[in-house]
Amino acid sequence: MARGWRFPTLVARGGQPAPGVTRPLTPPIYQTSVFVFDDLERVDAVWEGREPGFIYGRFGTPNHAELEETVARLEGAEAAVATASGMGALTALFLATLAPGDHLVAGRDLYGATAALLREELARAGVEVSLVDAADPDAVEAALTGRTRAIFAETVSNPLLRLADLPALAALARGRGLQLLVDNTFASPALLRPLGLGATAVVHSATKYLAGHGDTTAGVVAGPRSLMERVRKVVIRMGLNLGPFDAWLTQRGLRTLALRMERQSANALALARFLEGRPEVARVFYLGLESHPQRALARRLFPDGAGGMVAFELRGGAEAVRVLMKGLRLIEFAPSFGDVATTWSYPARTSHRSLGPEERKALGIGDGLVRLSVGIEAVEDLTADLGGALDRLT
Ligand SMILES: *Cc1c(COP(=O)(O)O)cnc(C)c1O
Repeated sequence: MARGWRFPTLVARGGQPAPGVTRPLTPPIYQTSVFVFDDLERVDAVWEGREPGFIYGRFGTPNHAELEETVARLEGAEAAVATASGMGALTALFLATLAPGDHLVAGRDLYGATAALLREELARAGVEVSLVDAADPDAVEAALTGRTRAIFAETVSNPLLRLADLPALAALARGRGLQLLVDNTFASPALLRPLGLGATAVVHSATKYLAGHGDTTAGVVAGPRSLMERVRKVVIRMGLNLGPFDAWLTQRGLRTLALRMERQSANALALARFLEGRPEVARVFYLGLESHPQRALARRLFPDGAGGMVAFELRGGAEAVRVLMKGLRLIEFAPSFGDVATTWSYPARTSHRSLGPEERKALGIGDGLVRLSVGIEAVEDLTADLGGALDRLT
């Protein structure tokens, strides 16, 4: 550091990085909004992409680059773009693929904010949207028009765990020259990789399984390089970028994704079987159960485990849900999922509250429907907690 600086200069400019530090095992957080340059040739080279480097926080940092590289490899994609949230990822992908006058066919039981994004915001952007049952390829095909540009589906629907028939949708999209866009949040690439099944691009709410610890809000889009370049432009221009610390947290969380998913799938299967044997429970929804209506497709798409999401219908309806809430000690109510902690949610009062009781009923979401996001705890403790709470209902 230059000597002889006055106090205001020292406070403003002291504490420069130590020169020649050894490389840390864990990457540092680049909590900076801009990068410095020592010559103009380098400015040109980095700006034009001829040399690697970083320019400005909104364009990305080494933390973004590391996360994007990781997710691209996990999803088998050429490239990926990190975003401020799952909704940011969806917004960027839709704006990068659709233009006014285009038509989109999307799955019917979508994440609530996604349905609102399509029905309200995309509609105002001049994109027409048809919502159909993504588990039924014939219904998707029947909704296609001459102006359809893309098909959008969630791998697994919330909260009833219906599977989009991705191989059939991919064949349909390929035959018509359409893009197949998939929200893979529920499955994560540890269990299912839609690009390998023929999808064009994949979106994640990294807030859920990718980060996995309930400590950050983040999103990511992965797909072909040319499309990701368009997505990145949208992200940069619309300010949908993720912060470096959140990129770092997501990357840190990702390191245990394989382990978490393995444990979560095993715990969820055990809990689903336990719930199926309880008299207070009318029905259990889980991709790994023989009773799942799409069991053959589930077995084919999820050979490595059926994931951590379980839903079940209590016979006692809304009153039984109230009793369950008072009885649970370990499993907490939290309207999100994918964390290491087991949590539960109540779709009628959270994700699907904007629908009326009639509309919920039409979708098959009853007043006694409870959704579990199964974590990595000892399954005996989870079973005891659920069992104890269910005992209060008899
Ligand atoms: C949570 C979620 C989103 C939105 O993600 P945010 O990170 O909350 O913006 C989108 N799709 C699915 C399936 C989700 O579960």
